[in-house]
Amino acid sequence: MQNFDGKPGSQRGLRTRLAHAGRKTSEQFGFINTPIYRGSTVLHPDTRSLETRNAPYIYGTKGTPTIRALEEAWTELSGAAGSVVTPSGLSAITVAILSVVKAGDHILVTDSAYRPTRMFCEGVLKRLGVETEYYDPAIGAGIASLMRDRTSLVLTEAPGSQSFEMQDIPAIAEVAHARSALVLMDNTWATPIFFPPHERGVDLAVEAGTKYLGGHSDLLLGLVSANERAYPALRETFDLFAMCAGPEDAFLALRGMRTMALRLREAERQGLALATWLQGRPEVARVLHPALPDDPGHAIWKRDFLGSTGLFSVILKPFSKKAVAAMLDGLELFGLGYSWGGYESLVIPFDCASYRSVTAWDPGGPALRFQVGLEDMADLQADLEAGFARLKAAD
Ligand SMILES: *Cc1c(COP(=O)(O)O)cnc(C)c1O
Repeated sequence: MQNFDGKPGSQRGLRTRLAHAGRKTSEQFGFINTPIYRGSTVLHPDTRSLETRNAPYIYGTKGTPTIRALEEAWTELSGAAGSVVTPSGLSAITVAILSVVKAGDHILVTDSAYRPTRMFCEGVLKRLGVETEYYDPAIGAGIASLMRDRTSLVLTEAPGSQSFEMQDIPAIAEVAHARSALVLMDNTWATPIFFPPHERGVDLAVEAGTKYLGGHSDLLLGLVSANERAYPALRETFDLFAMCAGPEDAFLALRGMRTMALRLREAERQGLALATWLQGRPEVARVLHPALPDDPGHAIWKRDFLGSTGLFSVILKPFSKKAVAAMLDGLELFGLGYSWGGYESLVIPFDCASYRSVTAWDPGGPALRFQVGLEDMADLQADLEAGFARLKAAD
């Protein structure tokens, strides 16, 4: 019988890897998907096995076959040395940071970072004696002027949360590595499918698996992939926190991975279609989407990224808060809610001005972030067209 156990090797194509990575079919009676292993205790055959701790599985917090399958698949997809799976995207960020920093360190964080990342730096890291300094996401190689002897980490995110600025990750990585600092990237928007993080110089790449890996708004999960240099400390820190994810969520994430390339291609197509349509609307001042040719980040996106996804923002012309509420409250297809990456369309109003520290956020009008789902584009446009009518009527 042909052996279907997957270790296809990274020279195979992306879609082949997505279909086969992490599967050990012969260990599960030929069934395709790794089952949900639930468990705390793992029975050992004898006292010697308990002592040496070299059994494949030792205790539930240290991994199960379901978790291991997802880690292996993610490592292969990301081109990493190893990965850990955590209970949320935010916990993936915090465990990745804590695997690097120690008291007295200085870290550099992009001013465009996901807001809860900032709150962790200003809350927990500050209390532990780690100093956070924010930098302009457009800084590129200019980050050299901010590096200190005690700078241990540069945190990047591209495009920026809500505001969609691109970052020159290879340039930042070159400077950071020359000064012995590590580079962490929140790669949730592009995923390793559209931005291979470790090939571009990232040491620790974070993915909120809650978004496109899950793809159906029904799970919470985080992943951190790391290169050879960063992986041992990542694994050690992860084990010390016992920050293990739930088995159902890991199972669903692994299932989501098999169709992720298809779903991302469609998210890209839908996102670009809606973004382009919005660019032509008289109520819209600007669309923030790096795959659009006139976006300030387009050249970097084109050089470093392999695709775009279905999340972007728009700046409206000046309208009152009341008018924006009238527009959004009456939408029938776009849900009002946080998170993204599912099959359904969402929109939220946002304002970065309240939390930025080194770059100004003054877009000149109300800002909306769209997550474009898989609905028919004509229906989505009709829903927004009615919304724009309410916007103008209520202003
Ligand atoms: C949603 C998100 C996270 C956090 O993921 P959770 O699973 O919701 O904790 C982190 N980074 C980015 C860019 C996100 O959009």
